[in-house]
Amino acid sequence: MTFAELANPGILTQPVYEPGKPIETVARELGLDPAGIIKLASNENPRGPSPRGLAAAQRALAEAHLYPDGGYYALRQKLAARLGLGLEQFVIGDGSNELLELLGHAFLSPGKECVMHRSAFVVYKLVTLMFGATPVEVPLGPGLRQDLPALLAAVTPRTRLVFLASPANPTGVASSAEEISALVRALPPHVILVMDEAYAEYLENPPDLRPLIAEGRKVVCLRTFSKIYGLAALRIGYGYAAAELIAIVQRARQPFNVNAIAAAAATAALDDEEFVADCRRENFAGLAQLAAGFQALGLEFVPGHGNFQLVKVGDGLAVFDALQRRGVITRPVKGYGLPEWLRVTVGTPAQNTRLLAELAAAVSR
Ligand SMILES: *Cc1c(COP(=O)(O)O)cnc(C)c1O
Repeated sequence: MTFAELANPGILTQPVYEPGKPIETVARELGLDPAGIIKLASNENPRGPSPRGLAAAQRALAEAHLYPDGGYYALRQKLAARLGLGLEQFVIGDGSNELLELLGHAFLSPGKECVMHRSAFVVYKLVTLMFGATPVEVPLGPGLRQDLPALLAAVTPRTRLVFLASPANPTGVASSAEEISALVRALPPHVILVMDEAYAEYLENPPDLRPLIAEGRKVVCLRTFSKIYGLAALRIGYGYAAAELIAIVQRARQPFNVNAIAAAAATAALDDEEFVADCRRENFAGLAQLAAGFQALGLEFVPGHGNFQLVKVGDGLAVFDALQRRGVITRPVKGYGLPEWLRVTVGTPAQNTRLLAELAAAVSR
């Protein structure tokens, strides 16, 4: 018998996530000097890690011989105080991606359905398929805007989870608080909204779903330390919801699913309010810089609300390739059904200038 014949059903057809290429890989493959390469492919923070988070991580390394506090008490305590919720309303994940998977463990099985937008963050579909459930994809509206009434209309008696991000990735579009709460209030009682807030800190006024949680609506919010806190390498995020939902998700995780270095860094990073405010302000400037640059090049773009922009370049893969040869790594989104577009992370002002110059050269060929 082959290993393939021994494998569980579904695992051989499970799609594989394609991450942004690391600088070292591109340098090796193309024979370029890594020092001259910039990566604007994975929505990483161009400012680097939160300084408080970094210092705490360095301190925590001295205790690397000890198991983490598997209850992540200090972090949950601080989150509870910050958000005005109970400690038992938080679960910590190995990145918010793990929390998506834990929700699958908790609520998905063959025969169930998950509703999501077409061109939504691909992990929603991967998790759905991983648990043998069926993804139901709803088209985006004009301008790649999200269509929340269409998500609602796609709900059936088999639906368990509806996945929604705002700002969404890779489109960068945001949905209003009114639209989101109208959706949550209209969902039938057998459906949970998974609200992915990975980029919420980049908004001036992120929608606040805590009142919906308080009135017993079925919604779970996911946040990450990978984006504005600049801790993507450490892999840590959190979910908050009704205590009853969180207790179920806690059962699905490993006892020490998040390492102690990440937990210490995240706990300290929550105090880095000035850093977060600076990153948000610089990101607004970066979004404007890219938008002005795209306009000058006559390129259509979707005004982004996260830390990235989606720009229409013609043949996305060809322009991605040309940019990469010029030492600028971006993200093609053909796999999202958007073959004419590229996703570009907001970099430092100098990186944005470099991207725009290389893009001008790449699209004029
Ligand atoms: C980056 C991102 C996340 C966060 O992933 P982590 O596992 O926390 O690094 C979640 N959702 C979306 C839509 C993202 O783009």
